[in-house]
Amino acid sequence: MKQFSLLLLAILLYAATSAQLPRVLILATGGTIAGAGNAADRAGYKAGALPIDDLLNAVPQIHKVAKVSGEQIASVGSQDISIDVWLTLNKRINEVFEKNEADAIVITHGTDTKEETSYFLNLTVRYNKPVILTGSMRPATAISADGPKNLYDAVTVAASPLSKGRGVLVVFNEGIYDGRDVVKISTTKVNAFVSPNLGPLGQVYDGKVTYYMSSMRKSTSQTPFDVRNLTKLPKVGIVYMYADADETAINAFVAAKYDAIVIAGVGNGNFNKAYMAAVEKAIKAGVVVCRATRTSSGRVVLEDEIDDEKLGTIVSDDLNPAKARVLLMLGLTQTKDKKQLQQYFFEY
Ligand code: ASP
Repeated sequence: MKQFSLLLLAILLYAATSAQLPRVLILATGGTIAGAGNAADRAGYKAGALPIDDLLNAVPQIHKVAKVSGEQIASVGSQDISIDVWLTLNKRINEVFEKNEADAIVITHGTDTKEETSYFLNLTVRYNKPVILTGSMRPATAISADGPKNLYDAVTVAASPLSKGRGVLVVFNEGIYDGRDVVKISTTKVNAFVSPNLGPLGQVYDGKVTYYMSSMRKSTSQTPFDVRNLTKLPKVGIVYMYADADETAINAFVAAKYDAIVIAGVGNGNFNKAYMAAVEKAIKAGVVVCRATRTSSGRVVLEDEIDDEKLGTIVSDDLNPAKARVLLMLGLTQTKDKKQLQQYFFEY
């Protein structure tokens, strides 16, 4: 009888503790974190091969941190992430929070385009609850795979009350990064992410979350970008500038009726005379042109070596070309006014 009572007490205690844990929903999209290779000591693998349940089974400790459930949204290497996947993710995240299905969301995602997805969601999710992206550089089958630890850390950050109201974050290799600022800087190393201009917001270590900074830029419900009812976005292309480049790529985007072009310029968003002439023509044809930089850090500043007022260009501030494209696609859903579009780059 005494034994039975003790067992009942233990069950009740367990039920009470787990009822108090935050509910974290994992939305899986694929990537190396779900990758499987033929041998633990070889780098080759197929991204996105493993389902979400296999990822969760590799980290049983996660269930002490949160009430975790999983959903498969896609199973792709993130080189194949599309606007369709972004819109699907966006809809599902907003729906989960609207219906109070979870307290926080973790998205497992390949590392190649994670910085684009994180910024897209940072601008379009309508709720202030934690949304955290994570992934891995080594497949699940590798020696010293980094996925289980990154997933555990991401759920820890998602479950922390300190993570509310910070927009969409990326957790990787114990760093907590703003989804706007984070970029991938290594092709193969496990410390693949940094925020080159501003540094990480905080750290997660040994199950504890510490923040040191907050972003001053507006995100999630503070932006006007509600894409829940959209099925496509305006077309924005990126053109890389290099020594002796000619105008072929710019002209091709204009001919293909793109709405805007981001130039990955040199230095402070500079480009040569051939580009200058092609940009002038593009702007006359109604295409918005934004100057960004191929340089890995720093801002692109208005009216420095290029007379933006005269040419009609806008600048990306400190967003890299891929992120500038994301903001332009969303900005163009609201306006074609260049002053307003430029303002978006200084606010979001
Ligand atoms: N190509 C993979 C992806 O982005 C690389 C990774 O996840 O690390 O899905």
